[in-house]
Amino acid sequence: MDEMKEKLFYQPKNGYDLIDAKERLALEDYCRRYMAWLDASRTEREAVSQAIKLAEAAGFRPLDPAAGAIGPGQKVYWNNRGKGLLLAVGGKKPMAEGMVVQAAHVDSPRLDLKQRPLFEDSELGYLRTHYYGGVKKYQWTAIPLELHGVVALKDGSTVDVVIGREPSDPQLTVTDLLPHLAADQMQKTMAKGVEGEKLCILAGSVPYAGEGSDRVKLALMSILNDRYGITEADFISAELEAVPAFDVRELGLDRSMIGAYGQDDRVCAFAELAAILETDAPERTAVCILADKEEIGSVGVSGMRSQDFEWFVEKLCGGTCTAQDCFSNSFCVSADVTAALDPMYPEVSEKQNAARLNYGVGFCKYTGSRGKSGANDAPAELVAKLRRICDEAGVVWQMCELGKVDQGGGGTVAGFMADRDIDTIDAGVPVLSMHAPFEVTSKLDCYMTYKCMKAAYEAK
Ligand code: MN
Ligand code: MN
Repeated sequence: MDEMKEKLFYQPKNGYDLIDAKERLALEDYCRRYMAWLDASRTEREAVSQAIKLAEAAGFRPLDPAAGAIGPGQKVYWNNRGKGLLLAVGGKKPMAEGMVVQAAHVDSPRLDLKQRPLFEDSELGYLRTHYYGGVKKYQWTAIPLELHGVVALKDGSTVDVVIGREPSDPQLTVTDLLPHLAADQMQKTMAKGVEGEKLCILAGSVPYAGEGSDRVKLALMSILNDRYGITEADFISAELEAVPAFDVRELGLDRSMIGAYGQDDRVCAFAELAAILETDAPERTAVCILADKEEIGSVGVSGMRSQDFEWFVEKLCGGTCTAQDCFSNSFCVSADVTAALDPMYPEVSEKQNAARLNYGVGFCKYTGSRGKSGANDAPAELVAKLRRICDEAGVVWQMCELGKVDQGGGGTVAGFMADRDIDTIDAGVPVLSMHAPFEVTSKLDCYMTYKCMKAAYEAK
């Protein structure tokens, strides 16, 4: 009977029962590289600039829009306003026969400074924020924060800001009530316990010498002016993001996991980046997308709905075919994280179809919510193709669904790729504590996602 079961049943296995000692070394080596990149990539802009560094070192050059169709083995990239990145390696087949596209996003939930952030109350200085993406607001209080971003000046120049990353730097925080005085707060729902307008960052306390009002605010503005040459009006044209000041760390007594901010979706972004940097002569042109703005609906010029992608592909085609001809023969892996089964909260998952830590890269045929609404429902034929590619390459993978039916749901860039007439499937790393300031992944799943991306680029 066991033989019959072995033959007829589908039984996913824990990845650690499937890999050998050699692969464990490769896994550790890959995760070290991922962790180093993630540690230096705390915003979408930093992720893009760090990715460009690696790409340049691997022989990629900025796309020359006038150069004509991409040639076999040619490696180019396009920096979309410092916030999105498109990379390509020319295939042996012409663009008309389609590309293998992999699309991840490099923006993550965070606290953005408002355009007029600075104020003083009771002789303490604060920065007002408007959160970005889906956050549980209470998680963003009472943790160390650092500030990253740019201030664009009227003269056309920009000033890079990083405060709190260096050990010698000061850090920031949003305060929370002490339990002794939180009786009323604790009666509220978790959604209302900490309100958005209360997510103000404590920024300083020493008054400027002399008489008058707003002396702490003045002292803080004076510090920023000394360090960055900016005035209060310059915040108006700034993008400053407060992000958790946690280092990227190995997690667990057995070091089997990674704990870090921003793994959704930089963990998949690095997987496809690492894969394309090692791709030299693919059959079909390989394209790697690091998109911005996924967490707020893939909007804007740097989001996946932007025509920037059409423009890029048109240049790769160089007049040999239309971008649309190319799209219809392409396939895309929408590389985004998925929810891992959390044994502390099993009630939100349906165990048979939930992703598990260490079971490898998770394929999602569909995401969405309430009857798959808003999902890209990947064609069965494409799911079969990815099964074959991964099985042939020894990738540990699992089929999964984001949460129980009617429990909630989510989306990725997959729908926007499919809108372009590109066959698209979601595949990515299962995450615990997704969207929290400190997210958890398994090293094995990170590595297998990279291996999946590499196999997809190399597929015939
Ligand atoms: Mn994501
Ligand atoms: Mn997300």
